[in-house]
Amino acid sequence: MQPIDDLRAFALPMRQRFRGVTVRTGVLLHGPAGWGEFSPFPEYGPVYASRWLAAAQEAATLPFPTAVRDRVPVNTTVPAVDAATAHRLVVASGCRTAKVKVAEAGQDLAADVERVRAVRDALGPSGHIRVDANAAWDVATAVLAIARLDTAAGGLEYVEQPCRTLEELREVRSRVEVPLAADESVRTAEDPLRIAGLDAADIVVIKVQPLGGIHRAMEVVGAAGLPAVVSSALESSVGLAAGVALAAALPELPFACGLGTASLLAADVTDRPLEPRDGHLDVRRVVPDPALLDQCAPDADTTAELLERMSLAAAHLGDR
Ligand SMILES: [Mg+2]
Repeated sequence: MQPIDDLRAFALPMRQRFRGVTVRTGVLLHGPAGWGEFSPFPEYGPVYASRWLAAAQEAATLPFPTAVRDRVPVNTTVPAVDAATAHRLVVASGCRTAKVKVAEAGQDLAADVERVRAVRDALGPSGHIRVDANAAWDVATAVLAIARLDTAAGGLEYVEQPCRTLEELREVRSRVEVPLAADESVRTAEDPLRIAGLDAADIVVIKVQPLGGIHRAMEVVGAAGLPAVVSSALESSVGLAAGVALAAALPELPFACGLGTASLLAADVTDRPLEPRDGHLDVRRVVPDPALLDQCAPDADTTAELLERMSLAAAHLGDR
């Protein structure tokens, strides 16, 4: 076990439900290098969670890699809201890149087209628009929808995870000009290599905790040879700092990152959250505030459960 000298469980309410989660829970670890975050989603078992623990231990015990940029551009995320709301959110964000959620259950393509048009209007011609279908389309629907949305956007930067499988992604990729990004398809360190080998996507979405840490993620990006969009796993600002450190250290960063998610939480562990200014996040360590850590401490049962998950994950640390 690494020299971890403090553990603090946290429970942070979310502004809106996300993947069934209304409270984001995890454990912050302190070590010689600073703080790391262990926050696997509740449904993850100990083997997968061990990668998240490796990432937390790395952040607490090793310095962040050398940064080649001192701030990182991020996108704002536009949920599947009406066009007027989408316009307002983008203007308020200050970001030059917007990720627009599309293919929401119960909505039709016309609503997506209207939302994307409004976002283009808000960004002006120099902004970038990417859409995220979260694997909701089949191949034929994706090909049609991408053409319509590309026109509405006046050019899409890329489409994130239009379909579920790599085979479908490859098929869509052969039929559209717009670049594709793989997100849900990247779950393990091996996935980006498979994606590159299959020509299934142009871009990979990379998250620090699921890949087992910043250094491992850098190796994975290098081996895949595809541009990476570093994104969060809805961490507190402590966990986001590790994502920013990865994005700051990558030799190439052609796209804005998906790390501007602190505002999805209704509370944070620091009074200086990693929130974008002018569409960028600063590259820095985040130190939690003791009073805020006390405020967001879960009840005794939840704390015990989180520490138990961590020790079960620790038993698998060598498995990767
Ligand atoms: Mg996505």
